[in-house]
Amino acid sequence: MNVAAETIAERPATPSVDGSDTVIQAHGLTKLYKNARALDGADFRVGAGRIVGLIGPNGAGKTTALKAILGLTDFQGELEVLGMDPRRQRPQLMRDVCFIADVATLPRWIRVHEAIDFVAGVHPRFDRAKCERFLERTKLKPNQRVREMSKGMIVQLHLAIVMAIDARLLVLDEPTLGLDILYRKQFYQSLLEDYFDENKTILITTHQVEEIEHILTDLLFIRDGKIALTTTMDEMGARFAEVLVSAAQVEAARALHPIDERAAVFGKSIFVYDGADPEPLARLGEVKRPSVSDLFVAIMKGTYA
Ligand code: ATP
Repeated sequence: MNVAAETIAERPATPSVDGSDTVIQAHGLTKLYKNARALDGADFRVGAGRIVGLIGPNGAGKTTALKAILGLTDFQGELEVLGMDPRRQRPQLMRDVCFIADVATLPRWIRVHEAIDFVAGVHPRFDRAKCERFLERTKLKPNQRVREMSKGMIVQLHLAIVMAIDARLLVLDEPTLGLDILYRKQFYQSLLEDYFDENKTILITTHQVEEIEHILTDLLFIRDGKIALTTTMDEMGARFAEVLVSAAQVEAARALHPIDERAAVFGKSIFVYDGADPEPLARLGEVKRPSVSDLFVAIMKGTYA
């Protein structure tokens, strides 16, 4: 065991908000490239049986964090994944982790049935029947080669294979890039219905936040290599509020220290609050939980300033 792993083992586990076991624990996770600080002392925890959205603007450090978790890049700081150090125990870790990169890489010459045979031969937890069921929902043919497929069809094949592997941690980096909306919706639905259970954990990055909002249990917002917000969806609903305010109430709304303000229809405005007392908010207008994308915009304000 190296120094970093020992330090984590000795430290009392981060209090688990959701009561689950820890799957990923990062303390001071830092990655320096020659000209960029891709991760800058990020601290976060992912519990077992959760579906966590890692959400951030372009260049925030999402892919770098996923690469560190998968043991695909070196880093500074402490990181433990399924109790292992991804730098030193990658082969062991990969028995329990599956990954879909934003660019699906499959050999261009391979046929659908050959790809399935290959994975069935090398992965003990691959369920061929399940993979074939996923493929039945696509237009892919068993004899079709990767080079004869469209971009989205390649992703469909990749997803069908990976979702048929019984992994403890599934890491998805923009998994639906290039897929049409029908298949994207179907993918997230089957991720929830046919794949996810309380023994699995999913960490997912995407810019299409609205599409995954309904399946997430937790949010991790990342900005400039640091975690800007970590919350369960339940806590988020209790902590943040959005109020639709008429023009006459705008000054009163501003006095309650919103974290964001934007124009709505008919001269109304929408205000977002963090930890505000619900009673005065209710006097301003209709109070709702903000959507993840509206909360993201509120918290990331100034990113491109
Ligand atoms: P996006 O949403 O645009 O995919 P991201 O949040 O995944 O962004 P990363 O790919 O992790 O961001 O990049 C974080 C920072 O690290 C950026 O400033 C990027 O330029 C830099 N970076 C990433 N990979 C490398 C690399 N191989 N060499 C040098 N710099 C890199």
